[in-house]
Amino acid sequence: MAGWEENVRKVTPYVPGEQPKKENIIKLNTNENPYGPSPRVQAALLNVEHLRKYPDPAASLLVDKIAAYHGVDSAQVFVGVGSDDVLAMSFLAFFNGNKEILFPDITYSFYDVWAELLRIPYRKVPLDSDFRLRKEDYFSTCGGIIFPNPNAPTGIPVEPDFIEDIVKRHPEIVVIIDEAYIDFGGKTVLPLVEAYENLLVVRTFSKSRSMAGLRIGYAIGSRKLIKYLNDVKYSFNSYTLNQPSILLGAASIEDEEYFRKTIAKIVQTREWFKEALEQFGFQVLPSVSNFLFVTHPNYPAEDIFEAAKKAGIYFRHFHNDRIEEYLRITIGTDVEMQAVVDFLKNYMK
Ligand code: PMP
Repeated sequence: MAGWEENVRKVTPYVPGEQPKKENIIKLNTNENPYGPSPRVQAALLNVEHLRKYPDPAASLLVDKIAAYHGVDSAQVFVGVGSDDVLAMSFLAFFNGNKEILFPDITYSFYDVWAELLRIPYRKVPLDSDFRLRKEDYFSTCGGIIFPNPNAPTGIPVEPDFIEDIVKRHPEIVVIIDEAYIDFGGKTVLPLVEAYENLLVVRTFSKSRSMAGLRIGYAIGSRKLIKYLNDVKYSFNSYTLNQPSILLGAASIEDEEYFRKTIAKIVQTREWFKEALEQFGFQVLPSVSNFLFVTHPNYPAEDIFEAAKKAGIYFRHFHNDRIEEYLRITIGTDVEMQAVVDFLKNYMK
């Protein structure tokens, strides 16, 4: 190793799902929403101007819209470049002690990457044999807690009182609930942020609002938590959200009807597709997300993954302990999911 390399911060990076350059594929590997953003977002795009100037560092237009939408004060909202950015800032701001932070062994695989990057001690808490969280596992002394609700890549939710029991026991740490997929059927803990100063709820525009390409995420919590987050953000990069994102994010919030309609469609597709998979003999975890996590007793996940890819259908397969035999399949349009059914019919013939 060259001398200078000893001073390099070495990390094993997070590997996002593939974004193939090919046309005409069925892309069900990164939980994108097939319907695209509201037409109001498309219209607002034509009005983007003032690109000469820096954007509003506070992104007030968007922050105020999000605050009004959720019925909280603007001082309780933090925005970032996708929820990945919001989560990274939160790790930096809140997981700053010497004690281990806790998260599930099977969960969003970025958490351990940020912990490693930021030298935060952590412990992965095993899910039970049904891939469910056990709240008692999170009662012990620790430096912080984070998990998604519903969890990813399982899609399995917990109830708000499950989370409240954990938060209640831990006034000494920050508890972060990653609600990236909450709009597809989970129950939010947003109402709890008034009662618990140390509870942070993180959301994204990438899934239910179908705006992954714009990179907008946000967090809601107490004024104190948000102030600490902003202090870290302004010490890192003042202008996280760009001008188009601020305008188009605000436009998305204004179209509640489209938002509700497209979510309902995805949920409806998820339910018939789940039944179809079960007909093929798949075990399907009880997901309330825009994806299903599935395994088949007779067909190795890797084989299905590769065969589907050859047929132009992209699923997600994780080479991790306990889930090697599972595939995560994003819910696309009815036509796309029917194509998956047709592929499986042929594959299992
Ligand atoms: N949390 C979870 C659980 C996710 O699956 C994702 C998507 N990869 C994210 C956060 C980040 O999403 P984004 O940065 O697009 O908001």
